[in-house]
Amino acid sequence: MITRDNQLPDSYGYFEQFGGRFAPETLIPALDKLNKAYNEAKNTPSFWAEFNSLSHDYSGRPTPLYFAQRLTEHCGGAQIFLKREDIAHTGAHKINNALGQGLLAKKMGKRRVIAETGAGQHGVAAATICAKLGLNCIVYMGEEDMRRQSLNVFRMKLLGAEVRPVSSGSKTLKDAINEAIREWVTNVRDTYYLLGSVVGPHPYPVMVRDFQSIIGKETKEQILAKCHRLPDYIIACVGGGSNAIGIFHPFINDRSVEFIGVEAAGRGIKTGKHAASLVAGRVGVLHGAKSYVLQNYAGQIMETHSISAGLDYPGVGPEHSYYQTIGRATYVAVEDKEVLEAFQLLCQTEGIIPALESAHAIFYAAKMASTLDREQIIVVNLSGRGDKDMDIVVKALEMNP
Ligand SMILES: *Cc1c(COP(=O)(O)O)cnc(C)c1O
Repeated sequence: MITRDNQLPDSYGYFEQFGGRFAPETLIPALDKLNKAYNEAKNTPSFWAEFNSLSHDYSGRPTPLYFAQRLTEHCGGAQIFLKREDIAHTGAHKINNALGQGLLAKKMGKRRVIAETGAGQHGVAAATICAKLGLNCIVYMGEEDMRRQSLNVFRMKLLGAEVRPVSSGSKTLKDAINEAIREWVTNVRDTYYLLGSVVGPHPYPVMVRDFQSIIGKETKEQILAKCHRLPDYIIACVGGGSNAIGIFHPFINDRSVEFIGVEAAGRGIKTGKHAASLVAGRVGVLHGAKSYVLQNYAGQIMETHSISAGLDYPGVGPEHSYYQTIGRATYVAVEDKEVLEAFQLLCQTEGIIPALESAHAIFYAAKMASTLDREQIIVVNLSGRGDKDMDIVVKALEMNP
């Protein structure tokens, strides 16, 4: 069950100054309906019974909380635990949100689902759930991303989804979201928009957070069972911010637990080739919400760079902007070359090939662990597995062995 231990966002979707609904007028009735349907579902025990039962039997939850003993010994400090979202069906946390929203779409009587995808991971999760629930699925994907992630394009097609190439702008995730929103405006009556992270207009950030909170709830039970206390730090990578919010939020009132979000510093913050919205951005509006955004002096969205396609996004969920502003969480950024180092470190110490996104969190956790003592506990959200990244890693290591 969802626990309501935090009162935010308010009924307009604001986390103080962040969030809201900066959407075209034609979408407001659809967002209102979605909000109403979600609030009804949220208070219906049978909705959660189905969500929990499919999370268990279909997605493979609960995912383990694993003590990374050799990584811990290698770092020589705090104990490092990994929340194994890489083991979830389709290889990442994204299935949690796709399942929740897929069930909601069905409950709302919508048969046509649209989604956007960057790396293809959310597209694959959405296509998977649509196949499972018997819904039609159309996925918008930038042409550049389709080229970089051709295997995921093939996966989505196999799963019965239609993949629509997006050729505007930088032909990547932000353009795919623009296109999906445009499509939703035109076909709002019969279409459900299944958004992939804690971004977008209200109620998406809160709804996606609630579905992803299953990660943090399990983590809390698991760490108490194993260590009889809460962790000192929880570390997660931040693209849009859904895996991070999912593991952070159930600990929001446990003030002794420090949250650290790790963004993509790409080739280095100073080079401008990065995707660190919280570390290096300014407050602005993107995709229907007010949050930290990478924008130029005129407010135009900047091109981003990260070795991991899943973090390559110029915005971030409004709840993270709020956490940063009130000091509840700290946000840092890790460079591509450090990510490759951590990627190999986890492969060799633990026999786990992480997603490049998750390797950002691993790098920061390993660095931090070595400065702490043995009694301290760090939990890292291992958001996904790295099979999808093999091509990129092979190329990067050949250039830079
Ligand atoms: C998509 C993705 C991310 C980034 O998305 P968030 O919404 O920030 O969680 C991180 N890790 C993996 C494995 C992903 O697929």
